Amino acid sequence: MRIANHDNKAVLLTSDDSGIDIHEASGGKFGPDIQSVYDNWSAFSAWASSASGSSLAIDRAKLAAPSPEPQQIFAIGLNYQAHQKEAGYKVTTELPPVFTKWRSSLTGPDTQVTLPHGGNVDWECELVVVIGEGGRNISAANAWDHVAGLTIGQDFSERIRQQFGQAPQYSLGKSFAGFAPTGPWLVTPDEFSNPDAIRLGSDIDGEVQQNGTTADMICPVPQLLEFLSKIVEFRPGDLIFTGTPSGVGMGQNPKRFLKPGENLRSWIEGIGEIHSTFRAGKPEESGVPIES
Ligand code: ZN
Repeated sequence: MRIANHDNKAVLLTSDDSGIDIHEASGGKFGPDIQSVYDNWSAFSAWASSASGSSLAIDRAKLAAPSPEPQQIFAIGLNYQAHQKEAGYKVTTELPPVFTKWRSSLTGPDTQVTLPHGGNVDWECELVVVIGEGGRNISAANAWDHVAGLTIGQDFSERIRQQFGQAPQYSLGKSFAGFAPTGPWLVTPDEFSNPDAIRLGSDIDGEVQQNGTTADMICPVPQLLEFLSKIVEFRPGDLIFTGTPSGVGMGQNPKRFLKPGENLRSWIEGIGEIHSTFRAGKPEESGVPIES
């Protein structure tokens, strides 16, 4: 099953360009906002398995973030060994670092992102988990039952702010306006032949940058949920950016970062793709520290 946040309404997709209005088709039981679907995930999925209704045309420009108001956004750093290596870290199987991308950076699938003046903005294509039923102390064995679905995310990262000072500022460096595009829709885990081995990648103006598989995660999705839920309580609609495979700009020689006018495509097998374009930010609105 695939669901989308289309024109601020929850829609059950029947194809890439058509769907059913969930609020209308359920006689007002679910929706119209998509958060109410996550809040009632088990009842919703039972209803959705046999839902029918009049067909609605999907306009890609009206797709918004599949979970637009998450109470919490988790993001995982260094969750692929080849990325640990390119980022200059020790290659390890230890539990990865966890940070947040603040909610005000969250957007839908196809956007124009302002590049903060003087910054080094990098790309990180990531599988994003959307939580259905929340909770604490979720075991890895049951973890997929707590996942409503999967979507595509870009963890844009301004590397100077991220690394500046004596302790890294992951959350700040990754929360500039528009730095968390997600979409184009949510795909439930049962749609994947193996939800623990999904290919994902990115390209800039057609040139391949990243091409990896979630099978290479150091801490796969079930273990991430088990680890995090020993500490925090998951809530319906929460997002987890699960880390990026290798091929980011800071790992290249010479390093390269995003430039105004470039087109970034981020894709995940079985979900689709999202698109980002870029423009230059104003010096007085930068937020990037000046390196001395
Ligand atoms: Zn990341």
